[in-house]
Amino acid sequence: MATTIDPKFISSSLIRWYGQHKRALPWRDTRNPYYIWLSEIILQQTRVAQGLPYYLKFVETYPTVQELAAAPEDDVLRLWQGLGYYSRARNMHHTSRQVVQEHNSIFPDSYAQLLRLRGVGSYTAAAIASFAFQEKVAVLDGNVFRVLARIFGVADDIAVPASRKTFQAIADSLIPADAPDTFNQAIMEFGAIQCTPLMPDCLFCPLQQVCFAFNHGMVQELPVKKKAKAAQPRFFHYFVFRHQGQYYMRKRLAGDIWQGLYDFYLFESTDKATQPAELAKELQNSGLEVQEEQIQLPRKDYKHVLSHQKITARFYLIELESRLREEITQETRLAAFTTAEIEALPKPVLISSYLKDAGILVNL
Ligand code: SF4
Repeated sequence: MATTIDPKFISSSLIRWYGQHKRALPWRDTRNPYYIWLSEIILQQTRVAQGLPYYLKFVETYPTVQELAAAPEDDVLRLWQGLGYYSRARNMHHTSRQVVQEHNSIFPDSYAQLLRLRGVGSYTAAAIASFAFQEKVAVLDGNVFRVLARIFGVADDIAVPASRKTFQAIADSLIPADAPDTFNQAIMEFGAIQCTPLMPDCLFCPLQQVCFAFNHGMVQELPVKKKAKAAQPRFFHYFVFRHQGQYYMRKRLAGDIWQGLYDFYLFESTDKATQPAELAKELQNSGLEVQEEQIQLPRKDYKHVLSHQKITARFYLIELESRLREEITQETRLAAFTTAEIEALPKPVLISSYLKDAGILVNL
């Protein structure tokens, strides 16, 4: 690890670079903590290009934290649809209510207090505290880890929580008291567009001279990050019950992916080779009177990859001669929806793709 680099040289070089290269992004023109918080929650695990339209939609639909807090959860999830990691949206909604009820609709104005909000970890608290209130607290995100690991030659595994201390100490030594917000923005932006994971632009880098990784031919080796576990395969069999133009769906419960979103009756198997006879048996066990012949193997398998799961899904459209009996709908929590109602429901992208492919919904 390199030890004798002047922190002032690094921070001023990053801030100068930022002034010349920063992208114009709407959340950079504001000191409103609500907008900054919205942008930070939306951008977690999301690229800027993907998150930007969501940020604009949320700011337009809910211009104040009170309006977000007053919205029904289904509406918030519907607006979030397609961004994934739906617990972020639920936490965000919960936090808006926390701010309204416990903080009189005024965002807490210090790092320590921000940390107490749900869904706000050390990174987000540091971002809001510095961008909105100019508190001198250094942010650490994936971009910052990479930049610091390379410049200072830190070989600690960034996937291990204990490494955080090392990186935090370096970042704290760099952040200037007179421009903590600009420095934080600068180092993150530098990681996002100059010191990128695979093709950093070392040739035209203002820190090339002092960069440990560049000077030791270790740019591709740093940062060190242990491999994530392989994604777990899951096999979903969705039964799309239709009766007189209405479709039976249900809201997903806590304890698994997609809590609060709507999908169809689901049977999960240990492999995708499950045959119609077995599927019919499964449905009959739940009181659904479906015969083997009604289950046509679909032509297409849907693949959907989440951070730790790889889902293969099949959809079986089943025409019902009559409505499902009340004891069945109570037992299975299924309810009939018109297509207009389905359009307004929050749904996983996988379900939206099927609805579109099957011609059930066109305006998605
Ligand atoms: S020289 Fe290359 S690796 Fe080092 S900070 Fe600059 S872009 Fe990153």
